[in-house]
Amino acid sequence: MTYFFETYGCEMNIAESAAVEQLFISRGWKKAEHPETADMVIINTCSVRGSAEKRIFGRLGYFTGLKKIRSKDPNTKARLDDMKLAIDFVEKNGVVPLTVVLMGCMAERLLKTVQKDWPVLDYVVGTFGKHRFGEIIEAVEEGRKPFKIEEEEAYTFAKTSYEEAAFSTFVPIMHGCNNFCTYCIVPYVRGREVSRPLDQILAEIDFLSGRKVKEITLLGQNVNAYRCMDEDGSELNFPKLLKKISEHIDKTNSSIKWIRFESSNPNDFSDELIEVAAHDNHVCHGFHIAAQHGSTEILKRMNRKNTRDEFIELTKKLRAAMPDVQLITDLMVGFPGETEEQFEEILTMMNEVKFESAFMYYFNPREGTPAAKFPDQIDLEVKKARLQKVIDLQLTHTTEVMQKRVGETIDVLVDIVSRHDESELLGKTEQNERVAFKADKKLIGSFVKVKLTGLSGNTFRGELV
Ligand code: SF4
Repeated sequence: MTYFFETYGCEMNIAESAAVEQLFISRGWKKAEHPETADMVIINTCSVRGSAEKRIFGRLGYFTGLKKIRSKDPNTKARLDDMKLAIDFVEKNGVVPLTVVLMGCMAERLLKTVQKDWPVLDYVVGTFGKHRFGEIIEAVEEGRKPFKIEEEEAYTFAKTSYEEAAFSTFVPIMHGCNNFCTYCIVPYVRGREVSRPLDQILAEIDFLSGRKVKEITLLGQNVNAYRCMDEDGSELNFPKLLKKISEHIDKTNSSIKWIRFESSNPNDFSDELIEVAAHDNHVCHGFHIAAQHGSTEILKRMNRKNTRDEFIELTKKLRAAMPDVQLITDLMVGFPGETEEQFEEILTMMNEVKFESAFMYYFNPREGTPAAKFPDQIDLEVKKARLQKVIDLQLTHTTEVMQKRVGETIDVLVDIVSRHDESELLGKTEQNERVAFKADKKLIGSFVKVKLTGLSGNTFRGELV
């Protein structure tokens, strides 16, 4: 039998899709090339922006038509030219049932209503229902009718999120968020913070070493808020966890060389963490830390726990401890009530910090969050104009920061063949930048030394040393 995943949203969703995929693989299922020909389609959804949900509703409309074609229902309203693959499939194989599953944050948010609104869905699996996937697969194999998914109260970490043949992989270590930033839906759909016990994390790392994985990214909505119990009963915080993982990697002669982590909250980026990151041999010196805004007043209304000055101070400490550090951030313009002066504070912070890159967006009210009801919502045209200014400034900073590195010879983990030129490979640096260079495909998955020779957009050009 065959499955097909459509995954939207963040790294956590990618990791969770990969974890569920392992269940299919372990039961002998194969990945379908297209949803039109699969036995089961799983849509792993994102709720962070309204636009993400709108897109998924569009896909549910498509799958409604697809299911009718697959069951030879004459009442389909689907556009038949969109369904050529499915029509060919039905002609060749006759009626083969299609099971459609919705999972992820949007499934959790609309748990009580979405199946009624979209009868195409056979199962709706919220954030806390993933432990039932094995039973869903079994029911589909046996041709049984869909059953109702009961959610558990506690989040369950999968054994592994490994994707077949990957040499880079995500390792979820915590889940949920306690921060309740006023614009964010995550605490409502992912629940409160839970941390994964150390023995489970190390067991997954051993499994990944056995698969010759080279790089792991420790994942969590608020990864550096990790807090668990150590083997001796003492508290294990995130810096201590990093040290433990690193020591374990060395002790077991693991294939893993690089450790990254994401997403970091500035408020939990302690001096202890900076110290560990600076001196550990495996922790990469590229950090994604969300600033969100440069105005203390706006940060306060966002319910962020740090001020502008505290954020800037953190970046200074990071640079002092790790001169080769590169910083990526998230920046949001147009938060309700943002004045022109407060907006300007984003630009002045950017000038002071010089992020290497940034995820930039304008505030989009999210139903169910406090900020959606705040007065003084900013006009869309103003938000767009402010965003453009931020993007323009960031582009100049990206070029400036990356240009300074041209001439360096650095370690690169070779990733894929370039889409633009078959003779070129793309790799990533310790700071998570892209490098294009000419080399043999057989180097994919290994570490090489590359001399950075130039810059093309935000990709380095390089030469194999
Ligand atoms: S820290 Fe804030 S923005 Fe990040 S997941 Fe938690 S509530 Fe959302």
